[in-house]
Formats: sequence, C-alpha cells, structure tokens
Amino acid sequence: MNDSHNGITVDRKICVVCGACAAACPAEALVVEGLSLVVAQERCRPCGIAALVCPTGALACPGGK
Ligand code: SF4
Repeated sequence: MNDSHNGITVDRKICVVCGACAAACPAEALVVEGLSLVVAQERCRPCGIAALVCPTGALACPGGK
C-alpha cells in the first residue's frame, strides 16, 4: 500500500527500509523506526534529495527529479 499524500510517497511493496532516504533527507522528514519507514510530511521542504538516493525507486519526493 502506498502512502499517498500530496508530498512524499513510499511504495511499501518496494521499500526495503534501508534507511538511505532517512540519512539523506536534510529535513528529517523520513525516519526509520524499528522495521518501518515513517514519513513526516509536514517536515518536507520539499527538496527531492531523498528520492535520488533510494536504491529501489520506492520513494517519490515532491520536487524530486
Ligand atoms: S531509500 Fe528507498 S528503500 Fe530505502 S528506506 Fe527509503 S524508501 Fe525505503
């Protein structure tokens, strides 16, 4: 199931919860908690950086290229 808001979207079928996006996001809008990736839409700037580092293509950020 996707998180589908106006901003960040994560395809949960593809996400492997590697944490690469959490490490890259300058706004801490993506956080790994236990075995889940938690999305804090309200923190997203948006800059699109985290989507660039996702190795599986699971993540889309507003402003992402
Ligand atoms: S970088 Fe991609 S695969 Fe890794 S935790 Fe983020 S959304 Fe999931």
